[in-house]
Amino acid sequence: MKADIVIYNIGQLVTFMEGPLARVSEDNAVIVRDAGVAIRDGKIVAVGRSSDIKSRFEGSKINADKRLVTPGLIDPHTHLVFYGSREDEFEDKLRGVSYSEILARGGGIYRTVTATREANVNDLLKRVLSVARLMLSHGTTTIEVKSGYALDLEGEAKMLYVARKLEELLPLKVIPTLLAHVPPLVYKENIQEYVNYFTNAIIPEIANRKLALYIDVFCDKGAFSLNDSKIILEAGLRAGLRARIHADQIEYIGCSKLVEKLNLDSLDHLEKMPEENSRLIAERGAVATLLPTSIMSMLEQSRPPVRALREAKTIIAIGSDYNPNNMTPLQQTVIDISPYILGLTPLEALAAATINAAKSLNISHEVGAIKENYTADIIIWEIENYKWLGYTWGYNKVLKVIAKGRIAYSRE
Ligand SMILES: [Zn+2]
Repeated sequence: MKADIVIYNIGQLVTFMEGPLARVSEDNAVIVRDAGVAIRDGKIVAVGRSSDIKSRFEGSKINADKRLVTPGLIDPHTHLVFYGSREDEFEDKLRGVSYSEILARGGGIYRTVTATREANVNDLLKRVLSVARLMLSHGTTTIEVKSGYALDLEGEAKMLYVARKLEELLPLKVIPTLLAHVPPLVYKENIQEYVNYFTNAIIPEIANRKLALYIDVFCDKGAFSLNDSKIILEAGLRAGLRARIHADQIEYIGCSKLVEKLNLDSLDHLEKMPEENSRLIAERGAVATLLPTSIMSMLEQSRPPVRALREAKTIIAIGSDYNPNNMTPLQQTVIDISPYILGLTPLEALAAATINAAKSLNISHEVGAIKENYTADIIIWEIENYKWLGYTWGYNKVLKVIAKGRIAYSRE
């Protein structure tokens, strides 16, 4: 049979065939020794024994040399499109200036808003492409990309256009999200007016132009109140977008409880979430997306209630939260530090960055597993088994990345 690429001699193939998993263990993971995979027209057409796949399929052969093979990584939370940087604020943070103080004096997000508004599409695209290539070379094959650094209609549309453009230029799958990030400073005394503008002008027009698939809101102290967040998410859902939320990061003001009333695919951050809310997320089949590098960048001591989430059988995903306050774009790094920051096992971290991350983006039927008819997004690692994830870190452990059925990165 004809194939485009045939991977054989895989030492350990790890994937999650049963779909998104609330409890991840060797019992429900698929761990195959001596495996092979055949790829045609961008899709996986067969998975099986190495010798069998190698003899059944003709095509360009790749010897995995007894190494680990996994699905491509899915990053379900990035703020990839922005302009400028904020390295000086890092020193302020280390000196003890709080995130809220930096924001209140017009720094933080507001500084990035000014830089992003001034940047044109080409400036933004050039910067975004260089970071996206870095992500791809470290195994990320799907990314969610949020707007939220322009705050007005045309600026947000420009950001989402850049996110969409990325998908044309690289073999990445991009899920664009319209984010209500913060009210602009000029609306400080009249946030309601901005909420009206966002819900009546920005959301319908972005949905109309088909620039976003998701609505998201930063529900927290210093950003949007619980009630305003609810109004914004409802408007997004009405406009036909799916919904996700930044919840319980800086202070608990009840944001994660919105999952009871609204159809949310994912609740992200949750550093300050009370343990009992874990059950609410699980009951609604939503995903808890945890962001360990963000916890580090915020110099945050609190942790999301991972044990309670596990006990409640909540599906856990992890993401990079790449943004100017957390300049780590690599989902591979997020996997590697998850055991240290969140207490996830290497296998849990792998599921959280593949099939569970796909679930948080509502695409677990097409990406996130090495399975027939799934998109051929596959990593050949230099390590021999998954137990090396997190055990060794701080360098690129990826040898080859196949994205949408073609070789997107190869170290040799
Ligand atoms: Zn975020």
